[in-house]
Amino acid sequence: MVNADLLVVGSGFFGLTIAERAANELGLKVLVIDRRSHIGGNAYSAAEPETGIEVHQYGAHLFHTSNRAVWDYVNRFTAFTGYQHRVFTNFSGEVYPLPINLGTINQFFRSAYSPDEARALIAEQASEYTTKDAANLEEKGISLIGRPLYEAFIRDYTAKQWQTDPTRLPGEVISRLPVRYNYNSRYFNDDFEGLPVDGYTAWLERMADHPNIEVMLDTDFFDASHGASQASAVGSVPIVYTGAIDRYFDYAEGELSWRTLDFEQEVLNVGDFQGTAVMNYADAAVPYTRIHEFRHFHPERDWYPSDKTVIMREFSRFATRDDEPYYPVNTGEDRAGLLKYRELEEGEPNVFFGGRLGTYQYLDMHMAIGSALSMFNNKLVPLFSTAR
Ligand code: FAD
Ligand code: UDP
Repeated sequence: MVNADLLVVGSGFFGLTIAERAANELGLKVLVIDRRSHIGGNAYSAAEPETGIEVHQYGAHLFHTSNRAVWDYVNRFTAFTGYQHRVFTNFSGEVYPLPINLGTINQFFRSAYSPDEARALIAEQASEYTTKDAANLEEKGISLIGRPLYEAFIRDYTAKQWQTDPTRLPGEVISRLPVRYNYNSRYFNDDFEGLPVDGYTAWLERMADHPNIEVMLDTDFFDASHGASQASAVGSVPIVYTGAIDRYFDYAEGELSWRTLDFEQEVLNVGDFQGTAVMNYADAAVPYTRIHEFRHFHPERDWYPSDKTVIMREFSRFATRDDEPYYPVNTGEDRAGLLKYRELEEGEPNVFFGGRLGTYQYLDMHMAIGSALSMFNNKLVPLFSTAR
């Protein structure tokens, strides 16, 4: 038995947004369970003990959005620094700015093209495919930037990151990476960007800080030994479920493919290892995809040591059932499987599937928060107003 009005499975941004809204707006008692021993899902961060440098434990998290409602909402819980994300990539022993911009193009072709000259060159190199008709990531990449740049910066990095041939991946994966014919090297195009001044965990804790919200950690929804498990709770209380959708149905329609990441963290006795927050490694021969150096996310923090730094190498591979599923791979078979799971969801009228894992979608934080706000307004508010 769950002693609450609403059970939320998963304390990531999706689950916490639902919990916060339900407690504050509807006065509901909310029980949030998470199988991990901390709240916050993949956005969780903690100070590395030796240096005090804030480390994003599940890979670097950069907050950005153009959604004004989401920006206003998140600003209730935290202030943001003026951090603007920039990324570089090491290809064949040379470092280039990303996303691909005029600087990248001119460095790569050892030229001084104007924007129009670069556009004309890339249009010619990209003429093999049209973006509109591109059937997969490779065709889309070539249609956007031409084959030489695609093969240098995208092909092998993508194959390393997704462990899937780019011809089997959807083109949308790289729609996230703009191409620019000027020297603007900001990673994101969004209107609002920054990092939480006091760190991610302080922000996440403030969302959960309400007398009506109880958080139970180390509690797996599929462990039948407690009252908030799938076996006990389904049918007795409305549930917002943000775990993996295939797991919910015990893989009845097969496993959807996910990528997971392995991180190798190191404290180094240098003040600055790479001079920037994120360095990608485009070459197939380098086993990791990128190195994060966390001090660079918070240049304003004067308490960080000047003689030590924390770096994290990121490796990507397919997830097994025992791994944390991070990224939906989204091949054609996956999309067909997802449709079958969506049909099964219809047999669970009191369970609301949300978040990255629950909808099998590549969601950024602002998208997870935005879709939680929509679910709250469009589904939970009507549900609880008729129930009363
Ligand atoms: P999650 O954060 O994954 O939370 C789901 C929670 O459910 C987890 O805590 C999990 O333990 C819990 N759970 C799962 N199964 C069960 C179960 N059976 N029982 C109990 N609990 C369960 N977004 C950005 O905006 N910018 C970025 O730079 C960025 N970088 C990212 C980098 C990486 C490596 C990853 C993986 C994601 C990144 N994201 C980024 C996306 C961001 O992490 C997500 O948008 C956000 O975390 C989504 O929140 P969520 O609540 O849907 O999922
Ligand atoms: N990508 C690439 N080369 C890079 C960076 C990104 O090919 O140096 C491609 C890759 O397919 C990746 C996608 O662009 O999956 C999106 O990149 P992003 O850095 O936004 O992904 P994330 O941070 O979510 O891993």
